[in-house]
Amino acid sequence: MRTAAKLAGFILAMIVAVLLGFWLASYRPAGSGAFRFTMLNVGQGDASVIESPEGHVILIDAGPAMRDDDTGRRIVLPYLRRRGFNRLDYAVLTHWDLDHAGGAEAIADGIRVGALILPRLPYRLSHLTTTAQRIRSAFERQSVPVEYLSRGDGIALGKQVTLQVLSPPPPGVGWTPTSDNDASLVLMVRYGSFRLLLTGDAEAEAEHDIIRRGLDVRASVLKIGHHGSKTSTSDRWCHAVQPKIALISVGKENTYGHPSRQVLERLQRIGSRVLRTDRNGAITIESNGTSFTVRTMLPPYNAKPARIVIR
Ligand SMILES: [Zn+2]
Repeated sequence: MRTAAKLAGFILAMIVAVLLGFWLASYRPAGSGAFRFTMLNVGQGDASVIESPEGHVILIDAGPAMRDDDTGRRIVLPYLRRRGFNRLDYAVLTHWDLDHAGGAEAIADGIRVGALILPRLPYRLSHLTTTAQRIRSAFERQSVPVEYLSRGDGIALGKQVTLQVLSPPPPGVGWTPTSDNDASLVLMVRYGSFRLLLTGDAEAEAEHDIIRRGLDVRASVLKIGHHGSKTSTSDRWCHAVQPKIALISVGKENTYGHPSRQVLERLQRIGSRVLRTDRNGAITIESNGTSFTVRTMLPPYNAKPARIVIR
């Protein structure tokens, strides 16, 4: 019986390995003319990769590292290597929580990074845990410069792709975030008429502050804040963003109950298609600036990507 179970486990592992191989092989290399966003399946945490048509590569969060599992080392770094990337233009940590930043030490040690991007925090939130200090030291050892960004800042990737910081606000200007989640970097990524909104673990207060400022948050694709927690993705936010596709990075059977039923219902009410890493595996969005395709490692879009035209 034990041998049968082991054999079944081995066969399953082989199937997953072969699927992953096909999935990776079906990609063109970076810089081949398309914008690409890949949300990796790192369990309960976040790690995504942006590739510009001109070949820039940005990592947004590095996956969780907790107890004996470091997904930066186990998933993110191997993915970057298999894709043939030997350098990241930027490594962005939306905030210091270990389900986002934990894997970053492996990234600092394992690949060249142009700059580390962090949210510019108000003084009382700028304390660093010992783990965060260790992660920052790992980047310092590699002489990676650090840039702190807040609303009003932005990053241009070549001529075509821009990342605009919508939150946190500059310290001392208007609303002050009171939690690390709400101080997450919120980024609007634009390529032609394609828009992708990345939210870290920002919650309803940050969402309301962004809306109150009158910032344009409409986006084709929304990365749902805080893994689908009911404290994020408010009704107002859903109506303001109007995403066609909502992406949730979440661990299978996680103990937090993410994503919450309320958030899924809010998204259903505005007609967003929800894709989540625990069920659909890694998710890739590719855009030419006027339309985009969605691919998933597991069904529904594993065999044939869905093509969506941007209005
Ligand atoms: Zn998180």
